[in-house]
Amino acid sequence: MTSLSQLAPGVHLWAPEGHRTWGLANCGLISSGGDALLVDTPYSLDLTDEFLSAARSAAGSGARIRTVVSTHGNGDHTWGNQRVVGAEFIATRRTLEHQCFEPTPEQLRALIENTDPDHPLGWYFRQHFGRFDFSGITVQAPTRTFDGRLDLRVGDTPVELHEVGPAHTVGDLVVHLPQQRVVFAGDVVFAGDHPCHWAGPLENTAAACRRILDLKPEWIVPGHGPVLNPGGLIAYIEYLEDLAGQALLMHGQGRTPVEAAEILIDEDRYPGLGLAERMAITLAGEWRHLNGDTSDPDLVGLVGSAARIAWSRSGTAPTTAEATAATAP
Ligand SMILES: [Zn+2]
Repeated sequence: MTSLSQLAPGVHLWAPEGHRTWGLANCGLISSGGDALLVDTPYSLDLTDEFLSAARSAAGSGARIRTVVSTHGNGDHTWGNQRVVGAEFIATRRTLEHQCFEPTPEQLRALIENTDPDHPLGWYFRQHFGRFDFSGITVQAPTRTFDGRLDLRVGDTPVELHEVGPAHTVGDLVVHLPQQRVVFAGDVVFAGDHPCHWAGPLENTAAACRRILDLKPEWIVPGHGPVLNPGGLIAYIEYLEDLAGQALLMHGQGRTPVEAAEILIDEDRYPGLGLAERMAITLAGEWRHLNGDTSDPDLVGLVGSAARIAWSRSGTAPTTAEATAATAP
């Protein structure tokens, strides 16, 4: 059971422990004068019920959750929205583009239940998504969209929404609370684990992070992982820039994104960050950009490439000799 913690007056954080795994995203509550706004909702309805009961008690009796802001269109930030009945759901207009190629809850269930657990994709999906109950979810479209910037008020609290994508996805936004000096960055920022950026290029993601720094926040809430101070965000920008440099170099050498990820893992270039296999996903976006390929990313195919790297390094995968023996007549 995850409880809410107070980050600043009227600003609470719901931060499930999600280190070295997928899908357990941070959510926020902003409340003032009986009015309340949520930043993102959890991946499944049971987790959303947990978050909402904690949020309602933190907001105080009589407070009404009038608004849900979605930082981007991934399911782990939006699939609980249906539980906040009667609220206005705000996202950028371009989030609608991302929702067209996000796997549905039914597809995700099939990837967990109908895949072979003895093969990389089935093994990886069970390991990282098997804890979630995806039943009963109806994916909702936002009820209000915007381009650029949108200013709101929650009671006496000004809330600024800034579109910063394409970065993690095509439609990313960040939530800036100028009075409390807090930014909810969504998945533009990851802490503790390697990010997986679907859109990019990394240059845009780094630029989005610099825009966050320009807002002069004291605290930056990443989409996943512990809250950062500006120094932590600067270190993350340096990681993004280094990875972009490595991508340019290895793309020029004719390597694939998976080969490049494996080289960087072997070098232990980014020690301490979990889920290193996700570099294959972020690098694939960089390759698409460098190749001038404007097609939509194949999200499940990309997770499959990360799964094969994790599988081959887990000790779970059969050695070549065992695999040959298993297939011998
Ligand atoms: Zn996420």
